[in-house]
Amino acid sequence: MSKNDDQTLRPATKLVQGGRRPEWTGDPRLGGGVVNPPVWRASTILYDSIADLKARGASTHDKFYYGRRGTPTVWALADALTMMEPGAEGSLLYPSGVAAISAGLLALLSPGDHLLMVDSAYEPTRAFCNGMLARMGVRSSFYDPLVGADIADLIEPATKLIFLESPGSLTFEVQDIPAITALARARGVLTMLDNTWATPLLFPALAHGVDVTMMSLTKYVGGHSDAMMGSLTATKAVWPKLRHAAYQLGQAVSPDDCALVLRGLRTLDVRLARHGDNGLAVATWLAGRAEVGRVLHPALPGDPGHALWSRDFAGTSGLFGFTLKGGDDVARARFIDALAHFGIGFSWGGYESLAVPGDPQTIRTATRWIDPDALVRLSIGLEDPADLIADLERGFAAL
Ligand SMILES: *Cc1c(COP(=O)(O)O)cnc(C)c1O
Repeated sequence: MSKNDDQTLRPATKLVQGGRRPEWTGDPRLGGGVVNPPVWRASTILYDSIADLKARGASTHDKFYYGRRGTPTVWALADALTMMEPGAEGSLLYPSGVAAISAGLLALLSPGDHLLMVDSAYEPTRAFCNGMLARMGVRSSFYDPLVGADIADLIEPATKLIFLESPGSLTFEVQDIPAITALARARGVLTMLDNTWATPLLFPALAHGVDVTMMSLTKYVGGHSDAMMGSLTATKAVWPKLRHAAYQLGQAVSPDDCALVLRGLRTLDVRLARHGDNGLAVATWLAGRAEVGRVLHPALPGDPGHALWSRDFAGTSGLFGFTLKGGDDVARARFIDALAHFGIGFSWGGYESLAVPGDPQTIRTATRWIDPDALVRLSIGLEDPADLIADLERGFAAL
């Protein structure tokens, strides 16, 4: 066993150790090594002989073979992600989070199958269900994120997969994941979770019964708003299906981007803790403002998802929403435009704060989003929260 497989290590230590295998960080012929796996760019891999070429063709994933199969920079990131997820057999990397989601769904679903998709899912996830999956003859039903154990009533003989996202990344409902995964296992249905909000630091997904966990590494893991990538991490039972599909789909990631994401991963523990603290400070302040309808943040004691969040999550990240009491689209634009420290832009999880409008009433189908107040989503960065609060005060003054 390599030290990189040591599951007795605590998460912060795994973040430091993950993927730094001696065979990837050093060259025995040179008698030394470096801290970080170097950036190995490659399409062609050269072999010693034809016998060598033939032998390597049969080798496993993390061996030199051809550029699409990766190089040590790529394997190091995948290895570190696997190490971070107790119960995982392996991880695959994709050029974006959406690419990881669509690859996972394609790997696990066939024509005639039925998919249960959470109604609070990231919008492009819905689009893939209604578009390409539907065209392939895979039927999707959208379900209420608060369904809990009643998911049993929605499982059909053709249901092969239940997709979860918790908290929903626009509306922040917390799902009862242990109840859903237990029921799914009992019925022979697989589960896949979009765990971008929590990462395995705050919610070890496979330990809660999930079969495949997905992250947009573009967000907290990358953490610096300069790289796009996605990952799937799976149990031993599901892993071969994902590997086989990855081989056929042919998506490959750049080793340069892997080096950026690995750099982000090393500091994920300290960054996420600060994002969470800063976010909670801002959310608590917002909850006391007369201009605010409600704050959608499961770590706030009054939040509908607070009990489940307290039971299942080890902490909070820094993404949440709030509504402007009586506010419409125009008022919301006035509010966001007045902010100086919050960038206006998509994505989240970077070191800098962002504010965007969100309109769940135009997206939902299983349930209706009846709150008429305009919703703002905030990604709280690593600035001093006092400066962010002063900025939000400017926004309220502009209303
Ligand atoms: C951003 C996001 C994705 C997609 O990730 P990309 O890297 O942008 O493709 C998936 N799920 C959630 C919850 C996200 O916020």
